Amino acid sequence: MLPGLMQSAPLQISSILRHAALAFPTREIVSRLVDEPVFRYDYRGLARRAAKVANLMAALGVEAGDRVTSLAWNTHRHMELFYGVPGMGAVLHTANPRLSDDQIIYTINHAESRVLLFDRSFAGLVARIRPHLTSLRHVIQLSPPELCDGLDSYETLLAAQEDAFDWPVFSENAGSFLCYTSGTTGDPKGVLYSHRSVVLHALAGGLSSAFGISAFDVIMPCSSLYHATAWGLPFTAVMNGAKLVLPCDRMDAVSLQQLIQGEGVTFSGGVPTIWTMYLDHLNRTGEGAGALKRVVIGGSAVPRAMAESFQTTYGVSVLQIWGMTETSPLGVVATPTPALAALGEDEVNEVIWTRQGRLQFGIELKIVDETGAPLPHDGESSGALLVRGPWTLERYYRAERTALDADGWFDTGDIATIDPLGFMRITDRKKDVIKSGGEWISSIDIENVAAACPGVKVAAVVGVFHPKWEERPVLIVEPHDGTELTETEVLDFLAPHIVKWWMPDRLIFAPVPLTATGKIDKKRLRDLYGTVLG
Ligand code: ADP
Repeated sequence: MLPGLMQSAPLQISSILRHAALAFPTREIVSRLVDEPVFRYDYRGLARRAAKVANLMAALGVEAGDRVTSLAWNTHRHMELFYGVPGMGAVLHTANPRLSDDQIIYTINHAESRVLLFDRSFAGLVARIRPHLTSLRHVIQLSPPELCDGLDSYETLLAAQEDAFDWPVFSENAGSFLCYTSGTTGDPKGVLYSHRSVVLHALAGGLSSAFGISAFDVIMPCSSLYHATAWGLPFTAVMNGAKLVLPCDRMDAVSLQQLIQGEGVTFSGGVPTIWTMYLDHLNRTGEGAGALKRVVIGGSAVPRAMAESFQTTYGVSVLQIWGMTETSPLGVVATPTPALAALGEDEVNEVIWTRQGRLQFGIELKIVDETGAPLPHDGESSGALLVRGPWTLERYYRAERTALDADGWFDTGDIATIDPLGFMRITDRKKDVIKSGGEWISSIDIENVAAACPGVKVAAVVGVFHPKWEERPVLIVEPHDGTELTETEVLDFLAPHIVKWWMPDRLIFAPVPLTATGKIDKKRLRDLYGTVLG
């Protein structure tokens, strides 16, 4: 092979920040905070304070490769850690505060973290877990001193640091972020992103096939920064010079609407539950969605009714995305193609509103049957979904063995179909699939229909033991607050839309529990209702 003769500058996260500070120094960043007024600065300000973070880490004795944990919401201070910590060569472990105390302790100890930086709302949590954290040397509260009750204040510590840092050049394969999966089965598992994977993923996220980000966008990430880096938006937005709006922990509809209207948000993203509440708010108040043009939704299946209502009533396009912590998380995004457009508007809407997304460069997909044989991309054959590519994990943190098969494919645990135009549809998670009389029933498909029934806030379907059919679907419905719903109303709504043998055997009105990553907690539902048909 003849070696190429181009520069081989490593892909480093610090280069994104250096670029933004030079190219878009005055582009604004707006941040809500815990018990403090809204804060505003710009990319130049972010670069200066990220440099102070890097200096602070060095002053605390943090070395390249050391782990630093954040327990923090979507704020400008968390953004400063996102750049300052990996920029100086350490690894930011973004702990998920919605895990149980035991799991949070487990992840911080497993990461062997040296420093913990936390938002004021987690002071009680930190006091509880602190005695069990074995590797910690420093604990810092992300607040000004007057809000710190005597604990070390981030603002005080930053004030003492220089606002310039000579970002070191090192291997692009060095670790940058450590994100743990939610551990609904077994202990949480650590996924260690590299600088290279984060930068490539951020480049891909901005493409028109994916989020289509421009410098004119005003981006408000409503997926948590601690959950798989909020789909890489903290990098894609900065790389492209978009204005950034950070909602802290205030994901209720009224708070989001204030930012969407007040700050001119054009692009946002989050799990479906946030947008269910937001749409309900718009429907009740008659308000519009301001300048909002695109909302990326994923983490769980997007109900068709949600995508349709956003588009037809509010002129907002929904980009469904599928991905997982192990894929950084961008896998597929639902955007049209010329081949799809040629089939007409109805077909475009049908596909865009019901598919998880289409093949993106940088992440290969394959579906296989039980023997591992590849299945055709005919939109009908469903099988285990395998992925491969430069931002897919190779092995879990501190695992001895690779997580891949011999050909380098990672089994996602999802069941999917892929159609001839390259659109992928998740039919279920392997462990949630319902097996009835030897046939499969897709819980996601039934949930999707039920979610469109007026008055339904969340619909969940689980397979429950049945003496004759092995398993049968049970539907759990949580109505919108103050809504009276009857069983007949819901079942009559379902009947024309799903085949008869998929009709749930039982309908239960009850709150639907969610996991630490905002997904329907099916394990808990099976524990609660597993015997109702027995
Ligand atoms: P967790 O830690 O809860 O597993 P992840 O975000 O890594 O959190 O979860 C990834 C899983 O979420 C995927 O394997 C898939 O089952 C589900 N998921 C993500 N996006 C979608 C989507 N758009 N539709 C259906 N399921 C999705």
